[in-house]
Amino acid sequence: MFFLPARFAGVKGNAVLLAQSFVAQALYDGCLAVDATAGNGSDTLFLAGRVGAGGKVYSFDIQLAALDATAMRLEEAGLRDRVILIRSGHESMDLHLTGPADVFLFNLGYLPGGDHAVCTRPDTTVTALSIAVKLLKPGGRIAVAVYTGHAGAAEESSAVLDLAGNLDPRVFGVLQVQFANRPGHAPYLILIERAIAKNEELALQTDC
Ligand code: SAH
Repeated sequence: MFFLPARFAGVKGNAVLLAQSFVAQALYDGCLAVDATAGNGSDTLFLAGRVGAGGKVYSFDIQLAALDATAMRLEEAGLRDRVILIRSGHESMDLHLTGPADVFLFNLGYLPGGDHAVCTRPDTTVTALSIAVKLLKPGGRIAVAVYTGHAGAAEESSAVLDLAGNLDPRVFGVLQVQFANRPGHAPYLILIERAIAKNEELALQTDC
């Protein structure tokens, strides 16, 4: 099945649940996952539940409030020990990650209920996404929830589309998933999957 049955109907239908459904297929016991934007902790909590007791989640945010909220949710769920919370911009996540990862989640924009001026930015988002693409394991998946309504959102959206749209199609599959019936500035998803094996990439190359 392509998507697990995450619900997305209604004007508050949640693109983030679809993103989680997409990456769920690349998560397994003992895997390594990254939440590039901890925010209120819902993606980190989801990943922590899916990496198993032998897995690890690296979760980044620049705001202490976000990391505190995330830590609290993890503690409540008994999953705190599976997660490394890092107060740092995701643009330097390669300094913290020890190797390639199976899954990266990005939920862009600002922290709901927080200062809207503290939000993800085109240059740092593109740097972080480029790192994620480089560190993605074969068969691994990246999901990016892109928000389009706030100041600076249009620039960030076009920078993400530019990067994602130029990934080598022999190595990466890239989908853009948009609500077709939402008024105004609905969020959309960029979903990236890396081909499973080197020989699969080569087979595709010779097909072209
Ligand atoms: N817009 C989403 C929530 C996004 S939360 C929604 O409405 O549900 C985005 C988080 O990214 C915020 O907590 C913010 O502090 C964090 N953030 C901003 N810039 C960042 C960076 N360079 N590195 C890591 N996290 C960052």
